[in-house]
Amino acid sequence: MTTPAYDPQNIFAKILRGEMPCYKVFEDDVALAFMDIMPRAEGHVLVIPKTPARGLLDMPPDALGPYMLRVQKVAAAARKAFDADGLTIQQFNETAGGQVVFHLHFHVLPRKEGVALKPPGIMGDKAALEANAARVRAAL
Ligand code: 5GP
Repeated sequence: MTTPAYDPQNIFAKILRGEMPCYKVFEDDVALAFMDIMPRAEGHVLVIPKTPARGLLDMPPDALGPYMLRVQKVAAAARKAFDADGLTIQQFNETAGGQVVFHLHFHVLPRKEGVALKPPGIMGDKAALEANAARVRAAL
């Protein structure tokens, strides 16, 4: 299949441009990290590249390495912030692959032994999202 063109009106592009708010965790010239608004675990963070890529396969290879370093950095902070026993890192490509927002992103989900992921599609509590963003920021 051919990957469709990048759509600059996707919600994460709007967050990158500051047109939509987010609970920010980390930002530099390469990546932005913020809380998933429908968290499937406490401390569920999304890490997105500033490079406009739809999915993993259309990310310019030169930009991928620096971006993955940010994913690792945020994952380490999330693990520390939530004293996690493990981490689930997810990345979906195209609708058939489970992707809903078409700007490349990795999910970082701190996990506790024996605690299942929450069901998808449930909005997080605003105060908890803000507090959890602050916890991850403090652990960076
Ligand atoms: P995916 O494309 O990897 O399947 O999922 C997109 C993720 O983005 C979902 O986990 C969803 O909860 C999250 N999401 C969708 N819209 C927004 C938004 O406006 N703000 C934030 N912070 N997360 C969003």
